[in-house]
Amino acid sequence: MDGVAAVQTYMGWMPHSPIPFSNSYARLPERFFSRRAPTPVGAPEPVALNRPLAERLGLDADWLASAEGAAVLAGSRVPEGADPIATAYAGHQFGSFNPQLGDGRAILLGEVVDRDGLRRDIQLKGAGPTPYSRNGDGRAALGPVLREYLVSEAMAALGIPTTRALAATLTGETVIRERRLPGAVLCRVAASHIRVGTFQFLAARGDLDGLKALADHVIARHYPAAASAERPAEAMLAAVVAAQAGLVARWLNIGFVHGVMNTDNMSIAGETIDYGPCAFLDAYDPGIAFSSIDAHGRYAYANQPRIAHWNLVRLAEAMLPLLSENEEEAVALATGILDGFAPRFEAAYHGGLRAKIGLAESHDGDDTLADDLLTAMAENRADFTLTFRRLAAAVEDEGGEDERGKSDEGVRELFLDPTAFDGWAARWRERLAAEPARERGAAMRRVNPAFIPRNHHVEAALAAATERLDFAPFHALNAVLARPYDDQPDAELYAASPEPDGRLYRTFCGT
Ligand code: AMP
Ligand code: MG
Repeated sequence: MDGVAAVQTYMGWMPHSPIPFSNSYARLPERFFSRRAPTPVGAPEPVALNRPLAERLGLDADWLASAEGAAVLAGSRVPEGADPIATAYAGHQFGSFNPQLGDGRAILLGEVVDRDGLRRDIQLKGAGPTPYSRNGDGRAALGPVLREYLVSEAMAALGIPTTRALAATLTGETVIRERRLPGAVLCRVAASHIRVGTFQFLAARGDLDGLKALADHVIARHYPAAASAERPAEAMLAAVVAAQAGLVARWLNIGFVHGVMNTDNMSIAGETIDYGPCAFLDAYDPGIAFSSIDAHGRYAYANQPRIAHWNLVRLAEAMLPLLSENEEEAVALATGILDGFAPRFEAAYHGGLRAKIGLAESHDGDDTLADDLLTAMAENRADFTLTFRRLAAAVEDEGGEDERGKSDEGVRELFLDPTAFDGWAARWRERLAAEPARERGAAMRRVNPAFIPRNHHVEAALAAATERLDFAPFHALNAVLARPYDDQPDAELYAASPEPDGRLYRTFCGT
């Protein structure tokens, strides 16, 4: 012990331990993962650090911002207490099963317990090769790293369960995709990185002990109430089904398309995870699929609930031996739970739509009313986010017949044929009159954001960063998206929908 440490110990201080790790996944059986440290990089350089998140995690943001912190966030230095692993998982990718995927470019440093007592994974994405890298380089390009940072943080600010971004750090190295690009590492924070595919990995190997250990871990960590249920595994499956039904309803209510809902990209904790080719709707189009690799629209906007259910059927299949030793009984139990998905999704989705159009009560015909607005929006290429946001202004400015035109104009102009809105608005106002109107506009603005990560702004921010290492547009956009429900008069530019140029926006996995 050197002199300083001796004095600290004498004074009752612990030597500086920057990240208070408390790891649990790495204590599970060795076959669940491979121990592997991140590969050091050429020259770590911070791009973004999420100070509010660091604070919530109980981490020292100033230390994370230091050269030593950047070295840790880039994977060049393994901090004390970390137990770095790449986790193993399987997955159905676009419908075909791959029994062996795993973290090919991500390394879980460990877990911390945050200020709210919640356990959080700290993972480095783009941290170098692992035994699961197959032909990949284990690295990430700056563009996709910043994209995940922006969109996951926007989702968090929108109030949607999601993994978070703690930091983005340049590696000082180049990655080769279609061309040479700056390399970066994302430090991702998640309730856990356990996926539907993690259960599939063990089920595919007939590893019943492993399945039991994983289910016990998930129950203790994410669904503690299930531990005291008569059949804990069944209660856990039901909880995951409920979490996913709620999550996908939130996606639809906010206009989010995940883009690659493979079972390895579906979190058991119910967070949105793996932001690859995701995008937000501009004009409302339920059939839209942005991803260049999703030619058949498997993961299109309106297909997301069906796919979530399909993925949950795969989870139930993997968990069958945990539900009952009698296969017939296990199938019956699983079927009963899976049948709960559609009504849960429907209730959450239409409940969300009701709030979006300003209804606090639930009356017969409300679902149809909301659906009819969406139909008119689709037929008239109306912008999803702006339409709902502007309904709040329309509802607050109801000065009788003379005023009608003025109050509705902001919404009408979003429709190719504005009279399509007028017909609907008459029915809407009749329904609004059937319940008290207290603070209706304010309530609507709390569920209808002004700001979402508009595709054209995200692309512009990523292009500036990638082409010129100019991070100002990224930071500006990130700041606006941190307060999506507030009117921000200086940021109107970010609220506008793109000029229609006839081209379909396309996203790329960019891995
Ligand atoms: P994703 O499409 O990002 O969900 O990734 C699917 C699988 O490919 C996962 O097992 C990833 O770890 C792996 N993968 C993606 N990109 C890379 C890369 N650059 N190097 C190694 N593995 C990768
Ligand atoms: Mg993935």
